[in-house]
Amino acid sequence: MNQSAVPDVSASADGRLRRDLAAAPDPSVTREGRPPATLEVVPLGGVGEFGMNMMAISWEDTTILVDAGVMFPEPDQLGVDLIIPDLTYVEGRRDNVQALVLTHGHEDHIGAVPHVLPLFDGPVYGTAMTLALVEPKLAEHGIDAADRLKTVKPRDRVSVGPFTIEFVRVTHSMPDCVALAITTPIGVVIHTGDFKIDQTPIDGEHFDLHRFAELGGQGVLALFADSTNIDRSGFTGPEIDVIDAFEELFTSTQGKLVVATFSSSIYRMQVLVDLAAQFDRKVAFVGRSIVQNAEIAQRLGYLRIPSGVQIRDSDVQNYTSQDVLCVTTGSQGEPQAALPRIAIDDHRFVKLGPDDTVVFSARAIPGNEKAIARVMSHVARRGADVVTDSMKHVHVSGHGSAEELKLVLSLVRPRYFVPIHGEFRQLSQHARVAKRVMSGGEHRVQVLLAENGDIVQFDSRGARIADKAPAGRVLIDGSRVGEVGDEVLRDRRHLAGDGVIVAVVAIGRQTGALVGEPEIVARGFVVAEGEAATLFKDAGGVIAECIQVSSVEERADQGLMTEKLRVELRRFFKKRSGRRPLVLPVLMEI
Ligand SMILES: [Zn+2]
Ligand SMILES: [Zn+2]
Repeated sequence: MNQSAVPDVSASADGRLRRDLAAAPDPSVTREGRPPATLEVVPLGGVGEFGMNMMAISWEDTTILVDAGVMFPEPDQLGVDLIIPDLTYVEGRRDNVQALVLTHGHEDHIGAVPHVLPLFDGPVYGTAMTLALVEPKLAEHGIDAADRLKTVKPRDRVSVGPFTIEFVRVTHSMPDCVALAITTPIGVVIHTGDFKIDQTPIDGEHFDLHRFAELGGQGVLALFADSTNIDRSGFTGPEIDVIDAFEELFTSTQGKLVVATFSSSIYRMQVLVDLAAQFDRKVAFVGRSIVQNAEIAQRLGYLRIPSGVQIRDSDVQNYTSQDVLCVTTGSQGEPQAALPRIAIDDHRFVKLGPDDTVVFSARAIPGNEKAIARVMSHVARRGADVVTDSMKHVHVSGHGSAEELKLVLSLVRPRYFVPIHGEFRQLSQHARVAKRVMSGGEHRVQVLLAENGDIVQFDSRGARIADKAPAGRVLIDGSRVGEVGDEVLRDRRHLAGDGVIVAVVAIGRQTGALVGEPEIVARGFVVAEGEAATLFKDAGGVIAECIQVSSVEERADQGLMTEKLRVELRRFFKKRSGRRPLVLPVLMEI
């Protein structure tokens, strides 16, 4: 059913809603006493927090899911690789879920797709880039669902039960991002996904302001909009803003240029590749995820690399430093990623020297500051220069600032507004801004400040937060890059099954050497009687060995050592016991 032919409307917001209702089967003609049919929207992640964005939208017995993202753990959440939304609500509606619709290919929107796909039978809609980034995730999880992935383009429409979903192009920090305009039986609902308004996009594909304006003119029941950067004033600025700073760095750097960025920052890669070509440097992508994403983007035509410019990381040593640009992972200080390894001189192919410059072309995700600072110090020890976005304009956000968010509100003029993608602070600020934007009598907006699990209802009587659905976080362990084949859903049930092992390791503050015997404590980890003592003794040996073979610089880095010990111990316990307990090394300096 295509509901796009919503009749032209009067300027009154109330009139708009009534007109939308008129185009639908009257929800109040049910038997007396029965409540009118209701549109139910439940944010399952990303509302009241950053990351793991997911939402369920239901009308009668049809549910569609919007995005299925992950969140990355804080450094102190040892033993946890990923966090996904609690899927209890989705499991309860298994038979109703008809489709998963994706706005774009960032991890916080697609990372949980492998965990959600097995819960329903329908298609997954997304743009070419988005689905290309989903594919390797499914492959890693051994899920064969190629026939369920349906590629869409901006302005395409698909029907799912009573819903018609239109994809509307937005600009963000990667190609092929869309907002969703979902026509429901009681009106149009717009979900912006992530966006900023980049009027000079790297790929020339513009934010579809025209369509937002048209939809607003026709009447929009509810707007769900990205709140990430609501507390920044003005406009975020286009991706091309970083070119000047990088031009300077290309000119002034005598040695290698090493740029760490997010592996999904395809636009940033394009800027760097173009500058490399212009300044006669070869480009090497270093780090598994960035190599993979560069390949995907190239295959789809979103990343254009002139022939002869790209080299492999293993070839870096064959060129003089000043002829090379390395684009790497590890901008957040993740111990297993490329830059942190390069920084401690532990990378097979890329070494740092005094003439080199290392650029952090990404923002520090809150919680990662210490790990990033440690990597910077390691880089400095190699004698290389460190450049961050506080020194030069080498990073620009992909999320719109206050003025861009206001512009979308003005264009869409929704009757109801639900801020999403942000902590409660951002959501409430976005709510205040929305009220200010639409304070005029004709376009007064009603704001619903929801959080994860809130059931937001829309029907002929109005809109409200009615109830609470189960929502929360599920911790996943074992899908870290580099440990292929070790992807096991490690939610709380598994945890209960395989238990926890805590290894308390005392190390000397100056030397980083092991002091005394590590103490190993297990809970819920069951082995045959008499075996435990030997097993834990051998685990102590693994710890001692791991510390001994590490360089002094590695040992001095607690975050790095904790991660090394975790990987070693997990491997050891899996091999020896066949179980996968949650392993938590605790390093104590004495
Ligand atoms: Zn995004
Ligand atoms: Zn996002």
